[in-house]
Amino acid sequence: MEVSRIPFNQPHLTGKEAHYMYQAVYTGKLSGNGLFTKKCQQFFEQKYGFKKTLLTTSCTDALEMCAILCNVGEGDEVIVPSYTFVSTALAFVRQGCKIVFADSMESNPNIDAEKLEALITPRTKVIVPVHYAGVACDMDRIMEIANRHGLLVVEDAAQAIDSYYKGRPLGTIGHLSAFSFHETKNIIAGEGGLIGINDERFVRRAEIIWEKGTNRSEFFRGEVNKYGWVDTGSSFLPSEVISAFLWAQLENMEDIQQKRKTLWKAYHQGLEGLAQEGFFLLPEVPDYATNNAHMFYIVCRNLEERSALISTLKAQGILAVFHYLSLHKSDYYVSHYSDIPDLPQCDRYADCLVRLPLFYELTLEQVDKIVNCIKDFFTKPIK
Ligand SMILES: *Cc1c(COP(=O)(O)O)cnc(C)c1O
Repeated sequence: MEVSRIPFNQPHLTGKEAHYMYQAVYTGKLSGNGLFTKKCQQFFEQKYGFKKTLLTTSCTDALEMCAILCNVGEGDEVIVPSYTFVSTALAFVRQGCKIVFADSMESNPNIDAEKLEALITPRTKVIVPVHYAGVACDMDRIMEIANRHGLLVVEDAAQAIDSYYKGRPLGTIGHLSAFSFHETKNIIAGEGGLIGINDERFVRRAEIIWEKGTNRSEFFRGEVNKYGWVDTGSSFLPSEVISAFLWAQLENMEDIQQKRKTLWKAYHQGLEGLAQEGFFLLPEVPDYATNNAHMFYIVCRNLEERSALISTLKAQGILAVFHYLSLHKSDYYVSHYSDIPDLPQCDRYADCLVRLPLFYELTLEQVDKIVNCIKDFFTKPIK
């Protein structure tokens, strides 16, 4: 029998990308901060209520902007979950900060807000919650702790587009936030990102940092009659060609989200029975959170079982993949710090979590096939 391959991810095109990119090219405005950039930023500001948003060339860049805006450096500490992508920590390491890693919850990979307070010292300046799989962290608890200790909160909302906490859009709750449009996310631009600014204090400086440390944005609005070097910064803005691509995706967001949620639900229904029998855990979405169907994962009982499951699926042409390795055990961290914390939940997700294929073009028949392979793996005796 021929085995048809199911990739882990496949970038989805809505059909309008090339058309808008063509428009950007032939209107003669190719650099950043043009019409498409403004359309995308307005989309986020109007739909979700950010004070201000700025497109960036990646979420990593948006996080670097956040770190600069937080005005942190040598001697300052930043609390970051260890179960996250490198950029969440790296953006602050580049400013000279010390990273203090926090553990995940037992019920889902998000930062355990109950264990946060024990990590705060007089040097702590920022907490960076990551909304893993687009599912909200307990933001009320985190904001309450941050406010009581005078800390800033930067939401790593890379995976959290169009997801909510108690009705509030993720990315609009902390002082600052960062989103990703990397081709593995729900809404894509190849490489791309966005910084969300919710605290008025940061708006002017964000525009300057975005435009190579100059007040060029004010100049273009006619607020000053010349622009020059006023602060630190970099070239964080994407070209109009990238923004045009992104606009085609944003226009079709409802359709993309609907499709992903349908597939996610099919996985959940198909695997519920096995989860009830205790073979693995399904993603937990707390009452305060919504699900934006960024990811479908299961948590196996141990590393050996996960490795065997990944191999079995691979033999059937299905690409399932594990996720983060604990950052507190990374080569970089271990070679720079001597106080390596013990973070058992983070290690558990690093060993046991496996992500299943989830992308727009995936069919319900393919989900069925994947579910059946998983069923066979857990319930049929090994031949
Ligand atoms: C994808 C991702 C990033 C990095 O996004 P880029 O746009 O590739 O820079 C950062 N943090 C998390 C949690 C992510 O999932």
